[in-house]
Amino acid sequence: MFNTTIVAGPCAAESYEQLSLTAKGLVESLAAQQQQLDYFRAGVWKPRSQPDAFAGCGEKALPWLQNIQEQYGIPVCVEVNAPEQLDLCEKHHIKTIWIGSRTGVNPFDIQEIASAIQGRDFTVMVKNPMIADLKLWIGNIERFKKAGIAKLFAIHRGYADSNESVYRNRPGWEIAIDLKVHFPEIPILCDPSHIAGNRQYIAQLSQLSLDYGFNGLMIESHYQPEKALSDAAQQLTPQELAHLLQQLNFKNSTSSPAENELRKQRTQINNIDTQLGVLLRKRMEIVDTIAQIKKEHNLPVVQPEQWKKVVGIYQDESLKDDDFQDFINNFLELLHQSSIKRQRK
Ligand code: PEP
Ligand code: MN
Repeated sequence: MFNTTIVAGPCAAESYEQLSLTAKGLVESLAAQQQQLDYFRAGVWKPRSQPDAFAGCGEKALPWLQNIQEQYGIPVCVEVNAPEQLDLCEKHHIKTIWIGSRTGVNPFDIQEIASAIQGRDFTVMVKNPMIADLKLWIGNIERFKKAGIAKLFAIHRGYADSNESVYRNRPGWEIAIDLKVHFPEIPILCDPSHIAGNRQYIAQLSQLSLDYGFNGLMIESHYQPEKALSDAAQQLTPQELAHLLQQLNFKNSTSSPAENELRKQRTQINNIDTQLGVLLRKRMEIVDTIAQIKKEHNLPVVQPEQWKKVVGIYQDESLKDDDFQDFINNFLELLHQSSIKRQRK
């Protein structure tokens, strides 16, 4: 029903040179594999959690972006958090904006922007609010629909309600899928960069989103990610991004329904295995800290009561069949041995 939409560009506009080298890299790397960029993104006004963090270059970056837009003929999009920013964008011929997840939590802010946009020719991409509230996301989109915006996208970027997760934000796919059911006419893009928070998970999150039927991707890209002034850990070089797009399996008519379903299930397994891998590593790191504490305080390495608690946790979550119980018992035995071995070192 929709073509796949690819949005890419840096988290933030930092300088004309940075934008220009990133845009050139993206355009050339994608062209080399017969792909193209639909929108070039860059944050200009950056809402940051910490007061001293880089908050974007502001208005000064708009002529740089206008220049990129004209040079490559690719529409540029920026995040807008307040109505007056719409005027500045318009002045520089930037006609696509996105609503960030932080702005999305405040209906007053959304309504102010929606009222100001009424009757104007903008494309609006509405990210999910940071909190996992489907109705709030729907309401935000409704406000732009009521303001007469015809070209709308939704963007799924996960939820900031889990500090335990391997990812920076909890994916909460079910909310995005419910949104898709509610607004079948609005294409929904996945932003794996902000879900992941780390470039190593972007490929599998992207594939999973495509398997779930998302209509495209917004991915952060910087020509020198390690030097980025914001979100350095999650940005891909233009070449890495092109490589990723080449590897991804976009739903197409040559895949049978069974192949599509199998791919989806396998991606979910990869996703779980990645998380298991990271969690096991984190677990061992904690074991090392515990070993240190026990050593300093002359405490025994093996504490049977504590281990009983660990076993109990796994039993609560276990499937009840015998094979699975066997597997868990073997796994716990290995885990315990390996933990004791580390502590004795
Ligand atoms: C961004 O896209 O750079 C951004 C700040 O996004 P979010 O609102 O999803 O955190
Ligand atoms: Mn970012």
